[in-house]
Amino acid sequence: MVIVNSIKVVDNIDAAMDKRVEENIILDNIARIRNIGFIAHIDAGKTTTTERVLYLSGKIQRIGEVDEGTATMDWMIQEKERGITITSAVTTCYWEDKQINIIDTPGHIDFTIEVERSLRVLDGAIVIFCGVNGVEAQSETVWMQANKYNVPRIAFINKMDREEADFYNVVKQIEEKLSANPLIVTLPYYEDGRFCGVIDLIKMKLFVWDVYDNEGGKKYVILEIPTEYKDKVIEYRSKLLEKLSDIEDSIVEYYLKGEDIKESVIINTVRKGTMSGKLIPVLCGSALKNIGIQPLLSSIVWYLPSPLDRGEIIATSSSTKEEVIISPWDIDKNKFCGLVFKLQNFPYIGKLYFLRIYSGCLKSGQVVENSSNLRKWRITKMYRLHANYREEIREAYSGDIVGVIGPKDTYTGDTLCDDSYSVMLEPIYTHYRCNAGVVSLGIEPKSKADIEKLFSSLETIKDEDPTFSYRIDEETNQIVLSGMGELHLEIIVDRLRREFNVGISVGEPQVAYKETITEKTVGESAFEKCISGKSHYAYVKLEILPLDRDRGVEIINLFSDTDVPPLYLQAVTRGVKNGLEKGIRAGFQIIDVKVNIIEVRWKEKDTSELSFEIAASLAVKDAVSKVAASSIILEPIMKLDIISPKEYIGDIMSDLNTRNGKILHIEDKMERSWLTALVPLRTVFGYATILRSLSKGRAIYTLEPYGHDRVREELENKLLEMYV
Ligand code: GDP
Ligand code: MG
Repeated sequence: MVIVNSIKVVDNIDAAMDKRVEENIILDNIARIRNIGFIAHIDAGKTTTTERVLYLSGKIQRIGEVDEGTATMDWMIQEKERGITITSAVTTCYWEDKQINIIDTPGHIDFTIEVERSLRVLDGAIVIFCGVNGVEAQSETVWMQANKYNVPRIAFINKMDREEADFYNVVKQIEEKLSANPLIVTLPYYEDGRFCGVIDLIKMKLFVWDVYDNEGGKKYVILEIPTEYKDKVIEYRSKLLEKLSDIEDSIVEYYLKGEDIKESVIINTVRKGTMSGKLIPVLCGSALKNIGIQPLLSSIVWYLPSPLDRGEIIATSSSTKEEVIISPWDIDKNKFCGLVFKLQNFPYIGKLYFLRIYSGCLKSGQVVENSSNLRKWRITKMYRLHANYREEIREAYSGDIVGVIGPKDTYTGDTLCDDSYSVMLEPIYTHYRCNAGVVSLGIEPKSKADIEKLFSSLETIKDEDPTFSYRIDEETNQIVLSGMGELHLEIIVDRLRREFNVGISVGEPQVAYKETITEKTVGESAFEKCISGKSHYAYVKLEILPLDRDRGVEIINLFSDTDVPPLYLQAVTRGVKNGLEKGIRAGFQIIDVKVNIIEVRWKEKDTSELSFEIAASLAVKDAVSKVAASSIILEPIMKLDIISPKEYIGDIMSDLNTRNGKILHIEDKMERSWLTALVPLRTVFGYATILRSLSKGRAIYTLEPYGHDRVREELENKLLEMYV
């Protein structure tokens, strides 16, 4: 007996050891993951840089070019034609035995939701700056977004091959305009006035690329630093060490002792400073000429955090509503939880959910729960993502980004988790979401056959894109699309026609006016009806309060009955949203209100989600109709940033004056003027053409939603005449 027992014990030890070894291997693999994204102002070179990264890491055999419409990551036909990135694509490559999951994000503000949702799931970002234009309007926007999510960053100053590029000036702008602490890691190196390499201040070596090489930057040599650069290198190396000594005391000690500091110590200190957000390593290169990409790749894996470094996050238990700590170190199947940050429809395979796993293990075939509606789904397939290609995988662990198929009724921002571990991660929030739609566009299906196809296609697009919405205008019988800008809707119309093959005629883009109430109001509705032999009953009472501008819509349950099934609560929320879709004053969407649900009633057998939805929607109508007379109309205000040669700025400003523009800031730098203004959207439709003629095509601008403001009286009267 004793012998048998002891054998058993040894067996168990072996099993336990095996498990430990296996766990360590898994954790080691997680430590090798880098979830990163490239973010920047439009045209700074994100897609071009990503192509080089994929090529040089061996992921693709040929470099795709944005200008030729062959970039791997811009795979939608609309992206290829316009040479811009619209949807963020995910792909994976490997460098120095690390797995890099890359999310390429678009720069155009119309697609800002893509940036916001990417930043939410990334662990680190590479901010690309144009070596000529430096910190541009949208560089600031994405920088602030990255601050919001505490994403550690590396800066890459691109386009150093352009004659006007000024590396040191861009570094200064990063420091001054973004209030960041740049740590210069590579300096630009020129031969006969031509940019052809970088000097690495950590390795203290010169990297020179063969500019005649047609192998996409694979060929480079590592040389000693040339004498003419010695002074500059000494100056910037001491600056680097000085900044590092603020991070790590041992650097000061080396310094004081006059000892050489080991490369590994420097790298670890840069890593520590970057991960804490105290330092921004700055590198330079030219993506187009394939210069400086390998050092960038190494910096990504050395300095940016792994999911384990990013550490724990806080979620909420779906049942008790208490805080739950989610740890990336948990790798058990029953600790699985992940955030859906995007979904997209693909021909043949259907809805693909992009998932960032925060803890546990997900296996193909596993049943998961959507914690926002407690529905359960089986994961039927799981993929590693490569832009629009996919590779099927069987399991994935905490920290990874994968695509899954199987769930339904699941949307961006939902949490999927093991059904024994019902937790809810913080949803993806964007302030654009609550006021979605500053531009609207009326469309009509061409034939009867197109009608059905149109609605299913619009639903598909709406699922993918939370900043897009549509409604049917009962008076005109038109379908009104609303989105973030003219380009946003143009792309949607194009997709409807080409991807979904729907025949539609399209009107002119319009300003999406909104309305809101100015005083508190209460409404109620009891819905009671017999539909196909089944009786439906629901009662909803609510109050609506005005909120400050651009606070969106808040819906809160004030009643104490905790027995209301979650599906009915969701139906009430849907009903409230439907009710707010069309205001009573002028028929515009109602925003900036808080809706408190005071009471709901139902009869056990005689109710349905539909009856709650209708009752809630009618209760909203009841409430707002009581205060219609004091309701006001709001219009979207845009933030306009212009960079123009100085000689045109006078004309641009007087033109803005005629458009009710309010100039917030103007500054001259080098040969250009930088201007920021607020303008009502209605006055800047088609601004591209106007600015082109004002500046002989030399000024550039970005326009992004800023907020809403009450329309002036004359306009209000005109709108009431037109719409009521
Ligand atoms: P994105 O909008 O940030 O994705 O920028 P793209 O990668 O699409 O690049 C915008 C334009 O800049 C394209 O015409 C590129 O060919 C060009 N470009 C990108 N990188 C460089 C570079 O290093 N040097 C030069 N001269 N042009 C570049
Ligand atoms: Mg791009």
